[in-house]
Amino acid sequence: YRAKAGHLTVAVFDPRVDLSGEDRLQRMAELRRAIHDGELVLHFQPKIALGTGRVEGVEALVRWDRPGSELVFPDAFLPLARRAGLLPAVTKSVLQQALAQSALWRAAGIVLPIAVNLPAPDLIDETLPARVSVLLAAQRLPGSALEVEITEEALLRDPARAKSVLGNLRALGVRIAIDDYGTGYSSLVYLRELVVDEVKIDRTFIVPMLLDDRSSSIVRSTIDLAHALGLRVVAEGIEEAEVAEMLARFGCDTAQGYHWTRPLPAAQFESWLREYEGADASAIRAAGRGS
Ligand code: C2E
Ligand code: MG
Ligand code: MG
Ligand code: MG
Repeated sequence: YRAKAGHLTVAVFDPRVDLSGEDRLQRMAELRRAIHDGELVLHFQPKIALGTGRVEGVEALVRWDRPGSELVFPDAFLPLARRAGLLPAVTKSVLQQALAQSALWRAAGIVLPIAVNLPAPDLIDETLPARVSVLLAAQRLPGSALEVEITEEALLRDPARAKSVLGNLRALGVRIAIDDYGTGYSSLVYLRELVVDEVKIDRTFIVPMLLDDRSSSIVRSTIDLAHALGLRVVAEGIEEAEVAEMLARFGCDTAQGYHWTRPLPAAQFESWLREYEGADASAIRAAGRGS
C-alpha cells in the first residue's frame, strides 16, 4: 500500500480516486497516525485592511506535511478526515498550533488576531468553548487573539447547539466569521439568526467581478447588507489590483488573496510581513517628503 514514488503517494490521496473498502480504511489509519504524529502544519495568509493597506489579521490554513510526499492540501485530505470522524482531531491540532504561534508572534511584537477554520462537528460540540478557553489561558492570550471561521453546514445540522457554542465562544471575546458567504442555500436566514462579527464573501463572486456586472452587483449589495447589520466584510481570493480597487470603492473592509501573498509557513510569513510593512513605511515617508 505504501507507494514508493512521491507522485504515486499523492495519487493515493487524490480525492477523485474513490478507493473503497480496505484501501480507504488504510488511508484513514494513516491519516489518524499522521495527525497523532504531528504531521499537520499551518500556513498563514494575511488579511489586509483595504482603507489603510495595513495587515489586520491572519488566517491559519492546514496542510499535511507527509513524509516522502509533496505537501498535501486540505481539499485532498479533509474529506477523508471527515468520513473517518477525524475533523475534531484536526481542529484540536490546528487550534493548539495557531495559538502557540500567536503567542510567539505577540512576544515578538506581532499582534494579529489569528483566524481558524472550524468545521461543523466542532461547532456543535458543546465542550468546544471550554477547551478553547483552556488553550487561550495556556498561552496567556485574550479571546480577541482568536477568530473562528464557520460555514452554514453546522447550522443546518443543529442550529440550537451551534448558536449556543457560538454564544459561548463570543463570551470569551473570540470573533466569529461566516466563511464562503453566498455559496450556501439559506444565506439570508443565516445572517438573521446568527450573531457574528464578520462575513467573508466567497471567491466565486470576487474572481469574475471585473468582467461580470452581476457578480459585482452581488458583491456590492452584500457589502451594504452586511454593513447595515453592523458586520465587517472580508473579500476572499483577490488576485488583481483592479479587483482590490473596486472592492475598496464598494466600501469592503478587508481582503485576502494571492495579490498580496499565498499562505506561507510561519517564518516566511514573518519575512513577508517585514518586507510589506517596510515598503509601507517607506511609502509613507516618501509621501511625507513630497508634501
Ligand atoms: P477557506 O477557509 O475558504 O480558505 C481559502 C482558500 O483559498 C485557501 O485554500 C487559500 O489558500 C485559498 N486562497 C487564498 N487566496 C486565494 C487567491 O487569491 N486565489 C485562489 N485561487 N485561492 C486563494 P486552502 O488553504 O487550500 O484551503 C481550502 C479550504 O480547506 C479552506 O477554504 C477551508 O474550508 C479548508 N481548510 C483549510 N484549513 C483548514 C483547517 O485548519 N481546518 C478545517 N476544518 N478546514 C480547513
Ligand atoms: Mg477560511
Ligand atoms: Mg472561504
Ligand atoms: Mg472554502
